[in-house]
Amino acid sequence: MDLGIRGKRALVCASSKGLGRGCAEALAEAGVALVLNARGAEALEHTAEAIRAAHGVEVATVAADITTEAGRTQVLAAAGDVDILVTNAGGPPPGMWRDWSRDDFIAALDANMLTPIALMQALLPGMMDRGWGRVVNITSQSVKAPIPVLGLSNSARAGLTGFVGGTARQVAGHGVTINNLLPGIHATDRAVSLDAGAAKAANITPEEARARREQSIPAGRYGTAGEFGAACAFLCSQHAGFIVGQNLLLDGGAVNATF
Ligand code: NAP
Repeated sequence: MDLGIRGKRALVCASSKGLGRGCAEALAEAGVALVLNARGAEALEHTAEAIRAAHGVEVATVAADITTEAGRTQVLAAAGDVDILVTNAGGPPPGMWRDWSRDDFIAALDANMLTPIALMQALLPGMMDRGWGRVVNITSQSVKAPIPVLGLSNSARAGLTGFVGGTARQVAGHGVTINNLLPGIHATDRAVSLDAGAAKAANITPEEARARREQSIPAGRYGTAGEFGAACAFLCSQHAGFIVGQNLLLDGGAVNATF
């Protein structure tokens, strides 16, 4: 399917690896020029070069922490007038509800709620003026089904989801859509580190922890960054202009709910 976005420009945050990289690859395949971001310059440059070589699109890079104001200023300056924004950042650490301090909550809210909101506030006006735009926020299945050890993530992402629910309806009339993608377990570095945490807690090997977690998913496996990226690119396509303010689960059926 031709996604109809060849020649558009996208900012994909936190995209040197994992789900962000999956989104960047799929957009590049559709002919979209990219601004990529991550903190570590080496992996970022490696990813940018691989995407240029595979898809022949322009790829700029900004090595910066997207969860800081200074980092966002750098990224937004390099991005300029983008048509597509994919927000993403590392997820908060697991833990126990009684242990989290105010500072822990503020850090999680900064990274996974206020950062995507600040990026939208910066880029939505230009998209609205030009009459076309797409925003996809990478959140988590924890928005629909809380993950007890990820209370910081549950909290911050629920706040972002509320903001998107209202704001998406305010910008849709200008040709701009905002939607959220909710990953279940995907085979990325993040999943490996959560496997390690689950293994330690249950006193089993990381391989056993992964096998157990795979069994909890009706699809019987972890998702891939490629599958995730393809869904993102579709939401950014010309065909998705009537999809507004939605929360799309990509979880292999893990959340057991009719809707
Ligand atoms: P990942 O494989 O660990 O990749 C994270 C990417 O984000 C890397 O490129 C990393 O590069 C970059 N990054 C992290 N923090 C950043 C920051 N502050 N500023 C700029 N770039 C940053 O993670 P992932 O699995 O793709 O997860 C992406 C998001 O989806 C996370 O918020 C995660 O919690 C959420 N999620 C993932 C899963 C899953 O199963 N994978 C499930 C539910 C939710 P640098 O480290 O060099 O910055």
